[in-house]
Amino acid sequence: VLVIRHRMRSSGKWAKAMDILKDFEDKCGTPIAKLRQVADAMTVEMHAGLASDGGSKLKMLISFVDNLPTGEEKGIFYALDLGGTNFRVLRVKLGGVKNVKKEFQEVSIPPNFMIGKSEDLFDFIAGELAKFVATEDEDMQIPPGTQRELGFTFSFPVKQSSIAGGTLVRWTKGFNIEDAVGLDVVEELTKAMERIGLDMRVSALVNDTVGTLAGGRYGNPHVIAAVILGTGTNAAYVERASAIPKWQGLHPKSGEMVINMEWGNFRSSHLPLTEYDESLDNDSLNPGEQIFEKLISGMYLGEVLRRVLLKMAEEAEVFGDTVPVKLQKPFIIRTPDMSAMHHDSTPDLKVVATKLKDILEISNTSLKMRKVIVELCDIVATRGARLSAAGILGILKKTGRDVLKEGQENQKSVIAMDGGLFEHYTKFRNALQNTMDELLGEETSKNVIIELSNDGSGLGAALLAASHSQYLEYIES
Ligand code: BGC
Ligand code: MG
Repeated sequence: VLVIRHRMRSSGKWAKAMDILKDFEDKCGTPIAKLRQVADAMTVEMHAGLASDGGSKLKMLISFVDNLPTGEEKGIFYALDLGGTNFRVLRVKLGGVKNVKKEFQEVSIPPNFMIGKSEDLFDFIAGELAKFVATEDEDMQIPPGTQRELGFTFSFPVKQSSIAGGTLVRWTKGFNIEDAVGLDVVEELTKAMERIGLDMRVSALVNDTVGTLAGGRYGNPHVIAAVILGTGTNAAYVERASAIPKWQGLHPKSGEMVINMEWGNFRSSHLPLTEYDESLDNDSLNPGEQIFEKLISGMYLGEVLRRVLLKMAEEAEVFGDTVPVKLQKPFIIRTPDMSAMHHDSTPDLKVVATKLKDILEISNTSLKMRKVIVELCDIVATRGARLSAAGILGILKKTGRDVLKEGQENQKSVIAMDGGLFEHYTKFRNALQNTMDELLGEETSKNVIIELSNDGSGLGAALLAASHSQYLEYIES
């Protein structure tokens, strides 16, 4: 009798677990019709954000980049890429598209600098940059008597005042340095460089999406937009200057302006939000903000998974009658771990078992439960990938590239893509690509190409530093 009762109890528990799974799956659903609504809402918000400052959740920030690289840029430039958990310093020698020499160094940012004081962060960055400058060899030295110039990729929302200046609107992605909000980040970096006696001029300040767009265009004239799917997510694209009512400045000769959408902050009633997303948002550093980002990007996917597992542990005792302590720790499941579990192709899901043990100190899970975990990974990643595709469709619609009109059969639209999520999470990438094909249809999707632009933003920032150099004559010569 005892055995039977125990079985009944645990099968009741399992049924509960299945209910949680099913409910989550339903609420995460992204049928094509819904994705089209999301894309339409995106274009509506794009219009609103271009019409006036504060007109939309989409900031549609003017980048002051009205000319993309041509391939003629020459000279030696530095770039600095700050945005995720790592930052990079680069030295680039430009001598034509086929003749780029790049040297770089990647440094991880100590977590305390991400939530500390502005000055400390900028001192740290300037210090690392100075160390890197000290490694210049003969071939990479700038001509005597000239000042080193830097393209600064700063991957947060910035209200630009010029190509080389702008104030931080707010932090995202785990950064939270309150005293920096509202400051001109170029001024802050410049002051930090002065403090340590590093003589360098910031010639361009760009978002990583804008850098990626510039870097992508350098090698491919068909690049019209850039998307980042990494720790955070965002997109930039080339807009007609005449379609930007809020732009009060001179209309550029090119007639074009690159717009940093800050699409991570997109929000719409059509988004498939669940209770887990809501609690994640509430507990985050930036509640109410970056809702699209919280559904899509690498910083959050593993955390959504953790929250569903926690609920299953609490209410269905899927990991035994006590809730594993580690599972209660926010952000303990990182997206690369989730990806590894999702891609587990061993028949008995060994990778899942190992990850559970190593990360959460959970052992002895049933194969059935491990299958549920893979299923959850799939739900979370697929939702994110399909929503990203809807976002891209929004851009294509706004720029009239979602359908091939007569005479445009050969028009190619290339999206330069960067970020670890796209680069390393194969199932995410495949789901994104398949959804694009589904949304665009066979014909059009042949002409819309998503191209991995690995670290295009560093090169892009250096290129924009070159085209905004104070030594244009030297560069042209
Ligand atoms: C930031 C964007 C950035 C994106 C990708 C977002 O959190 O707001 O400025 O482009 O992450 O790095
Ligand atoms: Mg980056």
